[in-house]
Amino acid sequence: MKRSLSAVKPTGKLTLGNYIGALKNFPSFQNEYDNFIFVADLHALTLPIDPEYLRNNTRDLVALYLACGLDPNKTTIFLQSDVSEHSELNSILQNYLYMGELSRMTQFKDKSQKMNQNAIGLGLFAYPVLMCADILLYDADVVPIGEDQKQHVELCRDLVHRFNTRYQKDVFVMPEPTIPHVGARIMSLSDPTKKMSKSDEKGDIFLLEDLKSIEKKIMRATTDLGSDIYFDKENKPGISNLLTVYASLKDITIDEATEHFKDCHRYGDFKKEVAAVVCEEIKKIQDRYNEIIASNLVDEVLKEGAEKAKKVAKETLKRVQQTVGIYGK
Ligand code: ATP
Ligand code: MG
Repeated sequence: MKRSLSAVKPTGKLTLGNYIGALKNFPSFQNEYDNFIFVADLHALTLPIDPEYLRNNTRDLVALYLACGLDPNKTTIFLQSDVSEHSELNSILQNYLYMGELSRMTQFKDKSQKMNQNAIGLGLFAYPVLMCADILLYDADVVPIGEDQKQHVELCRDLVHRFNTRYQKDVFVMPEPTIPHVGARIMSLSDPTKKMSKSDEKGDIFLLEDLKSIEKKIMRATTDLGSDIYFDKENKPGISNLLTVYASLKDITIDEATEHFKDCHRYGDFKKEVAAVVCEEIKKIQDRYNEIIASNLVDEVLKEGAEKAKKVAKETLKRVQQTVGIYGK
């Protein structure tokens, strides 16, 4: 059985973008693949974060994984920091990626631009190295991601090629990124030219947000002049974004969604219908989340997940250590 691996950083409250681009799709992989999903808590440290906030987000994220349909009997769910092999492989792999290629990563450029240039952490710069370790430790064949992570998986593919060529054997498995056809990049509701991100809270919809507030945000979402509903990312980014949200939650294509709204000539009516679909989906998730967070399930799942993940990670690390000339235990 091929293996699939994905993760989310517990940097903030999960957004509708995270759900549509990632969490919503995770359960479909657990029937076809040996599915590994983790919480990337080490990655969350790449920008300053309050310890208590990080701990709470981590717990919420696991509960949300379960609430969105991940089944711990089919999916190995664990914390990145519970498997020390991630850090050990990271320290080997950092010698096989180049500073030039890391400095070309869009995410690094975007995030570091907003910071004091004298205080950009090395971890933020080296983030894709750890991400390569995350993927390669589990011999992942497919990596489900949103569009923003594509460049990092491409870098990982370059690394696999470089490493396997250098040692003349297939030490690492070549991972394939899988990106959803609809909803790979949900934009902010207040500025539809910017990606919806959990670390940048303006205009975002959160999975654990009050439903009334979600409805208000959708009704107030930035739109453009006009009254017709059709997909045009350039000229109608706000409407196109809401159409994308609608289509992905309804599991239909953008064309089908446009057809559905062809007789609707009032943005208000359109937004109301989008809001209803979003609230219905989020309510289901919140109901399940509330049950899960009140139980011991999160701790149980993480304990078992860490044991299963460690078993696989240990074997891969040993293989790599032996390849490069370190005595693998
Ligand atoms: P951060 O601002 O901390 O980077 P984020 O919201 O970008 O947070 P990540 O933890 O970086 O979230 O990514 C988790 C998953 O969600 C990844 O698979 C990513 O591709 C996907 N994702 C993130 N934002 C969006 C979005 N706006 N639309 C669709 N998918 C997204
Ligand atoms: Mg991100």
